[in-house]
Amino acid sequence: MPSFTSSSPSLSADANAIMFMDERERARILAKAALFSPPSATLPDGRRDLVGLSREEITDILAEIGEKPFRTKQLWHWIYHQGVTDFSRMSTIAKPLQEKLAERFIIGRPEPAMVQTSSDETRKFLFRFRDGQEAETVYIPDRREDRGAVCISSQVGCTLSCTFCHTGTQKLVRNLGAAEIVSQFMAARDSYAEWPSLKGETPRLLSTIVLMGMGEPLYNYENVAKAMKIIMDGEGIGLSRRRITLSTSGVVPLMDRCGDELGINLAVSLHAVRNDLRDQIVPLNRKYPIEEVLAACRRYPAASNARRITFEYIMLRDVNDSDADARELVRLISGIPAKVNLIPFNPWPGSDYRPSTRERQAKFAEIVMNAGFASPIRTPRGRDILAACGQLKTASERARAGQTATDE
Ligand code: SAH
Ligand code: SF4
Repeated sequence: MPSFTSSSPSLSADANAIMFMDERERARILAKAALFSPPSATLPDGRRDLVGLSREEITDILAEIGEKPFRTKQLWHWIYHQGVTDFSRMSTIAKPLQEKLAERFIIGRPEPAMVQTSSDETRKFLFRFRDGQEAETVYIPDRREDRGAVCISSQVGCTLSCTFCHTGTQKLVRNLGAAEIVSQFMAARDSYAEWPSLKGETPRLLSTIVLMGMGEPLYNYENVAKAMKIIMDGEGIGLSRRRITLSTSGVVPLMDRCGDELGINLAVSLHAVRNDLRDQIVPLNRKYPIEEVLAACRRYPAASNARRITFEYIMLRDVNDSDADARELVRLISGIPAKVNLIPFNPWPGSDYRPSTRERQAKFAEIVMNAGFASPIRTPRGRDILAACGQLKTASERARAGQTATDE
């Protein structure tokens, strides 16, 4: 099993740790992290993508071309509230300025390299970014109501090597930039024609975001945080922090920052209740063991009875699914406002695990529920389109490799 190493580029995310290092070490880590940076926001033709920039950044680049700060508000409205990608549709902006903007800027979207809709209405997108890298986004509709969750990726690949996870078999290619994170959601909305953004609690199909796609969002914290601030901005997309959930395998120092700075909901991929087992299946546990992860959950500021922390627990047959595991889980999380999502393992080619039997899942869920925690068994969605994290990308690569082979 590949192991987690402390020289991973993710260390760059922990700015505090870096501040206390000597100059050489700091330069080494920053140089390494730069290799994983997203591509420049400027296209080869010199135009710059406005998506993913903060309001202040937009104001600054407008000033560079002699435009006043109030234009930022107008542009923000058209980009994030109306969802337009064409300056000529910005009817509150005079034509000469529309043309001037179009010469210098774009409002970017990733290219949908593959879009598949499952028989259960789950829609999976494989988005291709400017440098050709790809990441997955999945829309999971709620069958009972007109709403649903958009599952967004934060990295191409992942540095962590959880043994049950298909993304974990792909090495980290790079972090996604704020623009690429925001634009996954915007492109998914394009696909459902869900513009302009609706205000407040008006029902919408794409009603929540879960940062549960490819990658470890807390190892790309700066870009994820910037993207979420854009998505939460009330004059644009305006999704409330209560409708956004970040899933982490337990990067303790950044769980604190996420709670303080973003206040979004937290999901923690626990998956095991003993450190020896969690060390194996979630190797980050060797750095941040169960006790530290749970302590960070107990102090998570956005957690309350109304906004519970979700513990994700993948059910692996004969590995972590005994009654004793369920009882220990309940003991560990007692006192935390929490619910437990039980996720039947979704097998992928080459994996050794099997999903727990239905009877096991039900018994495990019953023990957790009887202790007072909601414990839904998450029915696998989009099975027919390989909706488990990381699988579509590999399928696409395989298909393209096959294509090339037949072409030759
Ligand atoms: N890196 C973050 C977020 C992305 S992974 C994290 O680990 O939390 C999010 C979730 O994908 C994991 O908790 C796990 O529940 C799920 N997952 C990964 N591989 C899976 C598989 N083969 N079957 C079912 N769920 C899987
Ligand atoms: Fe990375 Fe999450 Fe997959 Fe683990 S489960 S390898 S942290 S994406």
